[in-house]
Amino acid sequence: MDILSIDGLPNDEIAAILDTADLYFSGNRGRRGSERLHGRIVFNVFYENSTRTAMSFATAAHRLGASAIALSVERSSVAKGETLEDTARTLNAMRPDALVIRHRENHAPAVVAEIVEAPVLNAGDGTNEHPTQALLDAATIRRRLGRVEGLKIAICGDIRHSRVARSNAKLLPRLGAEVRLAGPPELLPPDVPQLSVAEAIAGADVVMMLRVQRERLEDDLGDAPGEYLARYGLTAERLATATPGAVIMHPGPMNRGVEIDGSIADDPERSLIALQVEMGVAVRMACLERVIDARN
Ligand code: ASP
Repeated sequence: MDILSIDGLPNDEIAAILDTADLYFSGNRGRRGSERLHGRIVFNVFYENSTRTAMSFATAAHRLGASAIALSVERSSVAKGETLEDTARTLNAMRPDALVIRHRENHAPAVVAEIVEAPVLNAGDGTNEHPTQALLDAATIRRRLGRVEGLKIAICGDIRHSRVARSNAKLLPRLGAEVRLAGPPELLPPDVPQLSVAEAIAGADVVMMLRVQRERLEDDLGDAPGEYLARYGLTAERLATATPGAVIMHPGPMNRGVEIDGSIADDPERSLIALQVEMGVAVRMACLERVIDARN
């Protein structure tokens, strides 16, 4: 079994990942690891920058007794012109037990999964999907608010380039939430309702802010410092229109003072940003365990 996209995951698999992650979350807090994947090898192959996803997949592997081995792509034969397919064949010949890949091209993990016999986990492909991020977001919401069903979840920012938004827009409605996507008009895909950030946040139970992915923009937005925050960001005034207990999320990396006011990001009561990172390890433990176990 691979984890390439949310659509590729059946409902019972999603439920099992969320339940297992919740158990691991509690166990990790007590620093109780497991030897469930003792002796296994997980390859981490990141063609794009990462802090949270790369480190949490590696931590997850180690907490399960497996070894995580990272390919530093910029120092690998990729820099000598090797194709993705040839790299995949090479890595497959070393017989890893799982391969985690992040790539700037949409669907690159699916290409690799055709070649590599071990389970492949998509750690983010271009503007397409980031399924383990959506799973950890759902697990975080459930942990904090007790449910996902019936919640109004505003996802605001650069929707057009966000694989996090795409995966969440598929997963969260399957769990019974109402998802509202909003952002600057030039950063909203044409096929979604054109909501303003203010409209999306009003009455929301969860407000998830996204970074403007300037590395994927052809033209700069041309905004002056502070302008994006005032027009589209999460400010105290906008947050005041959400439900009184609304929580704040961000997949990171965040640009303080751009999509989110720094003091809101640091709010100890309402900000779930650190909880998302902690839950990320537990969700990736659950994912690694399920895909590797399913193979045997
Ligand atoms: N870390 C997330 C991703 O890799 C979000 C972002 O980069 O803004 O998709």
